Amino acid sequence: MCENPANSREHVPPKNLFPESRDMRGENYRVNLITVPSCELHNLSKSKDDEFLMVSLAGIIGNNSIGYRHKLGKVDRAIRRTSYRLLDAVLTKKREIHRIEMAENKFIDVIWGTPDAKRLMKCFDHIARGVHVNHFNSRFDGRVHVHLGFLTYNKGNPQAWNDFVRRKTEIELDGKPSYGANPDVFFYQVTDVDEFGLFLFRFCFYGGLNIYTAMWPTTSSPPNNFAIDLMNRGIKTIVSLGDKKYEFN
Ligand SMILES: [Zn+2]
Repeated sequence: MCENPANSREHVPPKNLFPESRDMRGENYRVNLITVPSCELHNLSKSKDDEFLMVSLAGIIGNNSIGYRHKLGKVDRAIRRTSYRLLDAVLTKKREIHRIEMAENKFIDVIWGTPDAKRLMKCFDHIARGVHVNHFNSRFDGRVHVHLGFLTYNKGNPQAWNDFVRRKTEIELDGKPSYGANPDVFFYQVTDVDEFGLFLFRFCFYGGLNIYTAMWPTTSSPPNNFAIDLMNRGIKTIVSLGDKKYEFN
């Protein structure tokens, strides 16, 4: 993250995303967690963000049972401890609360709303730089573009873009290895470096919650993209990818 001397180590992704064994009937989901060198300041300053990230991710519908149990254990304890302040920080706007029946007489409350996407992106920018150190053994120098694949959008271009990025990444990562010793909680994949020097990480949490980060090293020279120009100008644009078409504007 910076040029300061590294005199501590921090977990990437944060340790609190990995359930404690007491919430998992003794099973260990904290095997060989990734740590990277960090300066003291960066290590300390991000503990609030780590907590925010934990509450943001663990309770999302569609996670596997490990994410769900983590939510019912450590995450809910943290939320109660802060009198729900933590939960309030996760959503900038709360729209609706739905009560869903999971089984007979078993209900859960689901909050539907607008997440603090800006803060989430900052967290994943941090994680991408950490994973880069772990994977390539070098500090990443450049820009990170975070795409939160697990969000759904009300309508229009963002949702089409979301589907497009997901499909394109699936194609580029096809057959690539996964890294991470607790894959049910977290694993990552990385694409090849393309002709412009760009590459992409996929981070997958709790079996299906995807975040993609496009890595633009300062030495790369990304092309001007004609299609994206058209989209940004509000002109109707159709992009084909495999057998699918994605329509913008
Ligand atoms: Zn630092």
